[in-house]
Amino acid sequence: MSKMKGLAMLGFDTIGWIEKDIPKAGPMDAICKPIAISPCTSDVHTVWEKALGERHDMILGHEASAEVVEVGSLVKDFKAGDKVIIPAITPDWETVESQSGYSQHSGGMLNGWKFSNMKDGTFAEYFHVNQADGNLAHLPDEIDVEDAVMLSDMVPTGFHGANNAEVEYGDTVVVIGIGPVGLMAVAGSVLRGAGRVFGVGSRKKCQEVAKFYGATDLINYRDGDIVDQIRDAMNGKPVDKVILAGGGLETFDQAVRMVKPGGIVSNINYLGTGDYIKIPRVEWGLGMGHIRVTGGLMPGGRKNMEFLSRVIKNGRLDVSPMLTHRFSKLEDLEEALLLMKDKPKDLIKPVVLVG
Ligand code: NAD
Ligand code: ZN
Repeated sequence: MSKMKGLAMLGFDTIGWIEKDIPKAGPMDAICKPIAISPCTSDVHTVWEKALGERHDMILGHEASAEVVEVGSLVKDFKAGDKVIIPAITPDWETVESQSGYSQHSGGMLNGWKFSNMKDGTFAEYFHVNQADGNLAHLPDEIDVEDAVMLSDMVPTGFHGANNAEVEYGDTVVVIGIGPVGLMAVAGSVLRGAGRVFGVGSRKKCQEVAKFYGATDLINYRDGDIVDQIRDAMNGKPVDKVILAGGGLETFDQAVRMVKPGGIVSNINYLGTGDYIKIPRVEWGLGMGHIRVTGGLMPGGRKNMEFLSRVIKNGRLDVSPMLTHRFSKLEDLEEALLLMKDKPKDLIKPVVLVG
């Protein structure tokens, strides 16, 4: 058998099943077949918001747990039959950017993001992983194969938001947007010792799960200006950190208006539309407020996956409350992706068991 099928972006606004050759492994690479897969809001930005530009017949997806089916001659630590965690971001580890600590941008801006961006992704019977020893991680027996899919992107992205916000013991943290990424930013902030965590979101299901992960306050952006609501709850005081994981460009303005001098605004949202971000001059201390505004693509790679998997394996984080919709065959991916696009009220994350 040399052909496989996959769910692809056929062009802007269009997805469909296509047939392609099964990819081949270079000397350092691996070919994997998915065990469980999850669609991401980023796939939605890519197809329906034209965020990355045109892509033709590109297989979507960058989240999966998988089984290795073939490795290249130079791969040392993985072999056919191994169960693995697939990071959404698979950098080229020999690049100067990687050596400088920004592997996400290995070879150029965002170029560590290969699946469903620069090459075919995980929504297929087989997919290719570059630099297997640097990018795969063994899946511990104690972690469920569906839970493991949350290690691909949701856990590392949410935790990256908390890391970039430099959350410290006792910090007051606002997480704007409590979809799966924001929920993991709540969980990551709590693990880093935040004292008070505001979760900003409107859906009841997300609010419930935010509480589960340790949000102390829930703010609904449909109930009025969130800056006013948070300031009221804080008795007029600013917060220490803000993590942006949902909403649009306006959230930067809101964040700068609610954070303290010296505070940090940490964006992990994929800004799919718009041209410029506005920062309010006065609240930014006339340019002198020491408010840092930063944003980052999640770090991928083996070490990150191994470290984060310990957090789940040893019971410090339970990702299962995020898995609200379960499917049981590859063909169901289309429905799962459309769910991610339409975001019904009770949805956090769908997962498709295929292996
Ligand atoms: P999501 O759409 O499920 O969650 C975002 C939430 O924000 C939704 O529940 C939405 O209702 C809510 N929201 C909308 N407007 C809002 C507002 N004004 N204020 C507060 N909340 C508002 O998405 P997700 O899967 O949790 O992903 C969040 C973002 O992270 C997406 O843009 C995704 O593409 C991006 N992402 C980034 C990375 C990265 O590496 N930085 C990785 C994965 C995903
Ligand atoms: Zn993603």
